[in-house]
Amino acid sequence: MSMGVDQQRVTELLEREHRAYVEARPRTLELWRRAEASMPNGVPMSWLRNSFEPIPMWVDEGRGAHFRDVDGHDYLDTNIADMSMFTGYAPEPVVRAVAERMARGSQFMAPTDDACWVAEELGRRYGVPLWQFTLSATHANNEALRVARASTGRDVVAFFDGHYHGHFDESLVAMVDGELVPEESGLPGDVTDRVLILPFNDVEALARALEARTVAAVVTEPALTNGVGLVLPDDGYHEALRRITRETGTLLVLDETHTQVVGPGGLTRLWSLQPDIVSIGKSIAGGIPLGAYGMRPEVAEVLQRPLGRDDPKPLVATGGTLFGNPLSMAAARATMDEVLTDDAYAHATSLGARLAEDLDLLVSSHGLPWTVHRFWPRSGFTFGPSMPRDAAEAVAGLDVPLRRLMRAYLANRGVWDAIVGAGPTMGTSATEADVDLYVDAMGALLDELVA
Ligand code: PMP
Repeated sequence: MSMGVDQQRVTELLEREHRAYVEARPRTLELWRRAEASMPNGVPMSWLRNSFEPIPMWVDEGRGAHFRDVDGHDYLDTNIADMSMFTGYAPEPVVRAVAERMARGSQFMAPTDDACWVAEELGRRYGVPLWQFTLSATHANNEALRVARASTGRDVVAFFDGHYHGHFDESLVAMVDGELVPEESGLPGDVTDRVLILPFNDVEALARALEARTVAAVVTEPALTNGVGLVLPDDGYHEALRRITRETGTLLVLDETHTQVVGPGGLTRLWSLQPDIVSIGKSIAGGIPLGAYGMRPEVAEVLQRPLGRDDPKPLVATGGTLFGNPLSMAAARATMDEVLTDDAYAHATSLGARLAEDLDLLVSSHGLPWTVHRFWPRSGFTFGPSMPRDAAEAVAGLDVPLRRLMRAYLANRGVWDAIVGAGPTMGTSATEADVDLYVDAMGALLDELVA
């Protein structure tokens, strides 16, 4: 429950906004009804049914920071497809590079010269020199884990409470009432034997967990953006994390899939972090599927096979037919070379700062005891007087009905908002007018909520 807001009013407004949303979207409804005969839940991934209420979004097209649904409604997208379209929609250099590559053949199960450029550039940005490619961040994290197991000879992986790193088995273990459980159905029951879940920002708990030297890797985002809100590391936490992982022979995997929006090289570069492995995906190829993980040479050693087939070393289980294909690589090259430039990051960050300032003003002018965070191009609310330090605090401050209302209210006013609590993001093609659009819509909601 959030402080300062009447729950009854939230319920009334949510019903009103959901009704208005459905009434204005006959074509969406028609498509969804038709799709129910050919796809579970009437969507290509059944969970999309839950990702937006009251009915799933069906899109027509997108340009820059906006997209249009099949009923002709325009939205500023501050969800940026859950951080996968930080570049904006249809960025011209990527459109061109993909069209050119497609016309010359897009897949050979053999590399093109773009692979060299992309691996070198990721190395320059993230500070680890040796890269491997997949089709998604999920695949990248899954393979990073296999490399960590092969390299340490240990099986267990540690994550922090509130983490998300994709839909592979180990990533979907959660701590509920002090017990490890598979978060969703369809996972092997014994997956919990291979996982530890630790509280973020708790140096002692980390040291205790790694002491026995059974953990292959700690996998984390540099700041948690993926649970119910934003959780930032305490001062000195990353130093302790690095020291303890090193002392216990545990590899440190930093997942920059979301946090890459802070700048070229993500938080790894901004905070001078020293991971053994960095994983990434989403925006890195401008919306064309690509995942990647970069390693220090000592870690990549298990993948090196100087004698090819004759090398006696066991193969590490990695790879897929379409992983790192030339189309994805052409898109990644155009994205990093021409779209996600230093200037583009600076532009998005300055819009994010303005968004945070304006949200701060809204909160104080409505007398709400909420906290607004500043996370480069990203901002947003915590519904209480201070930021959470771990997932338990974030969950305690969660107000699901209010979050649902915010999304529905904004969608009816041309803003497609973040699906998780870490808040709206201004992409590289957003404008000052887009910040105004977001702030005006949120201001109208707060006016109605706080009479
Ligand atoms: N890592 C992080 C930090 C993520 O936020 C996500 C997706 N939300 C993933 C990995 C998985 O990405 P994908 O679904 O593209 O595989």
